[in-house]
Parts: sequence; structure tokens; C-alpha cells
Amino acid sequence: MFDSITGSLRNSINKIRHKDDAAALKKATTELKKSLLKADVHHKTSKELITEVELETKKNGIGQDSFINALKKELNEILSTKGNQGFVFSNTPPTTILMTGLQGSGKTTTTGKLANYLKTRKKKVLVAACDLQRLAAVEQLKQIAQQVEVDIYFDDNEKDPVVIAKAAQEKAKKELYDVLLVDTAGRLAIDEELMNQLFEVKNAINPDEIFYVADSLTGHDATKTAITFKEKIGIDGVVLSKYDGDTKGGVALSIAHQVGVPLRFIGVGEKMPDLEVFIPDRIVSRLLG
Ligand code: GDP
Repeated sequence: MFDSITGSLRNSINKIRHKDDAAALKKATTELKKSLLKADVHHKTSKELITEVELETKKNGIGQDSFINALKKELNEILSTKGNQGFVFSNTPPTTILMTGLQGSGKTTTTGKLANYLKTRKKKVLVAACDLQRLAAVEQLKQIAQQVEVDIYFDDNEKDPVVIAKAAQEKAKKELYDVLLVDTAGRLAIDEELMNQLFEVKNAINPDEIFYVADSLTGHDATKTAITFKEKIGIDGVVLSKYDGDTKGGVALSIAHQVGVPLRFIGVGEKMPDLEVFIPDRIVSRLLG
């Protein structure tokens, strides 16, 4: 994970060989800029990060240690978007989460991973199969639910996801579930119909939070799409999927900075336990190697 960014960040740090060497700091920040761009970090995010790192390093006296500390501090600040962390339970169960994202982003898998995460914390979880767009999605969720041993609500005869979502919520309330995770349809790209459908499901069940599953491997597109979802339906958290395959690592920085919604979890593999709470410190350590 992150081989390229870690290597080039190290390169930038190594440019500073002597204390109080302003020219070396310049070289280091130029190198830093290159490595951030290579790692798919948005140019606005990169610019702000570099300005802050430069100021902070100068303030504490130019040197490798102060440069590293400044870099750690600024990376941490960018990744620590204000808002909820991990999973937050509502005071009035069931906590209802609407899972959204593009087709193939890992939405159904992430729904299963979250169900598993909650199940291992002794929560009573119901998943609702409202992705009627992708043919195999309901079947996939049935298998996942069986695998992680949580209940599933589906209706093979119903074509309207709003009806299914409402019925699932009713069941979750009546049978005292702690959490209801609603898997929704995705598309290959954003379109009006998808957004309208999500909007209708959202209005029908009034979820406590809306999670957007972003595929880290799609680079800048992940950020752009997250912004559109935020504008059109409102999102409360981002789950970054496929982080295990993202050798660049910059997408977390861009999303945190550009979308302004907290990153809540990261997907780090295809298996159900491969989900981690997003902890900025941990990501910074990984980025810096
Ligand atoms: P959906 O269309 O958004 O519901 O996508 P799926 O849940 O079917 O996931 C698409 C593919 O991505 C599947 O092959 C998943 O196994 C894979 N996938 C999902 N999350 C992760 C992850 O965190 N890491 C890896 N390596 N693969 C993932």
C-alpha cells in the first residue's frame, strides 16, 4: 500500500540535509509537490498542504525533524474532517444508514462488511436489499447476509425500492433491530434517474446517516462523484473502498479536503472483516511509511 507516495515523501524529506537551509526547504517542498501530484492528490489540496508545511517548518526552525513534524501535523489536519467518526448509533433505534455509491464501487460488499462489524459488536442488524438495478445485487446481499449471519429483508416480487426500504424499516422497528443498513442501486455514472430514486428512498425512510462508498482506485473521479452525491442527496460520511489496492494513497487526502465530509471507514480487502474505522493518525503513519 502507498509505495509510491511513501517513497517520494521520503525523498522530499531527504532533501533537507543541513539545519536552517532555506534552499533545501524549497527543494523539499518542490519534491513534496511532485509526490502529491503523482499520488493523485487534488492540486488545491496539495497547494494548501505545502503552504502550511512550509510555514510550520520555518516557524520551528528548518530541519528534517521539523519538516516531518509539520508534514504529519498538516496531513492529520486535512484528514480530520469535522464530524462523526466510525459508526454512530442513534438514540432511537434502529439506526438507519442509507448506503450509496456508483455501481462497482463496493457498496454491497461494504454493506456486508458494516453488518459484520456491527454483528461482532453484538448488535442486531438487518440489511435491506434495495439495489434492484444490478441483477445479481440482491442475490449477492443474500449470500453476504448468510455469511456474516445477519438478517436480510428482500422482496423478489417488488420492483419499487421505496416500498422495500419502508417495509424493511417497519420490520426493523417492530422487531427491535439496533441497525438497519439499506443497500441502494448504483449506476456506472451519475444520472438523474438514480439521484431521483435515492432521493425518494431517503425521503421515505429518513435515515440517520447517508454513507457514500467511494472506490479509491478511481482517483480524482472518486472525489468529483462524492461532491455530486453530497450536493444532490446529502452525505454524512464516506467509506473508501479498495484502499488495499491503492498504491498511490492520495485519494483520502483529496476527499477529506475537497468534499468536507468525514471519512468513516476504509475497505482494505474483499473479505467481510476487511473494514477499518478511518483513523487519520494511522493513515498518516502509512503515508509516511
Ligand atoms: P457494488 O456494485 O457497488 O455493490 O459493488 P460490489 O460490492 O459488488 O463490489 C465490486 C467489487 O469490488 C467486488 O469484486 C468486491 O469484492 C470488490 N471490493 C469491494 N470492496 C473492496 C475492498 O475494500 N478491497 C478490495 N480489494 N476489493 C473490494
